[in-house]
Amino acid sequence: MNENANKSIQCSVTSCRHHCQSADYCSLSAIKVGTHETDPSQKQCTDCQSFSLKNGCC
Ligand code: SF4
Repeated sequence: MNENANKSIQCSVTSCRHHCQSADYCSLSAIKVGTHETDPSQKQCTDCQSFSLKNGCC
């Protein structure tokens, strides 16, 4: 569990190893946001590229 909430980065992705589990914040000091689309037009087109699956093997 990571308790170092960065109040500048709100996040509800609790399956990410960087999520501050006790509140909806990221624990990293900075993140990278990107896209998987060639011409992003909606918020669904954007991704947190700092995401890392909690308890993941890879
Ligand atoms: S790295 Fe991205 S997905 Fe993971 S907790 Fe931080 S903001 Fe959320």
